[in-house]
Amino acid sequence: MLQLRPNCELCDVDLPPESLDARICTYECTFCASCVEHVLHDVCPNCGGGFAPRPIRPGVDRRPGLSRLHQPPASDRTHAKYTREEIAAFVGPIRDIAPEDR
Ligand SMILES: [Zn+2]
Ligand SMILES: [Zn+2]
Repeated sequence: MLQLRPNCELCDVDLPPESLDARICTYECTFCASCVEHVLHDVCPNCGGGFAPRPIRPGVDRRPGLSRLHQPPASDRTHAKYTREEIAAFVGPIRDIAPEDR
């Protein structure tokens, strides 16, 4: 099940489960839309893959047992393990390759 992480790994802004600004990679690395656009250029600094908007999990049960009431967001904040300089060096050669070709 998808982990709904509470913050952007890079700038640490809050990304609550209902946020439309959350972006995730295939490994659930989570960043804000602004960092993905202006800093990461659609390159996940952890895996090199692209990003997609994080789907919103319903806040109430539309089907029994399936909502944030039963599968709540994660509480542990995650922080990037690379410096801004390391990220820029990693992103540079990858950003112009389409995600489907990486
Ligand atoms: Zn951010
Ligand atoms: Zn990733």
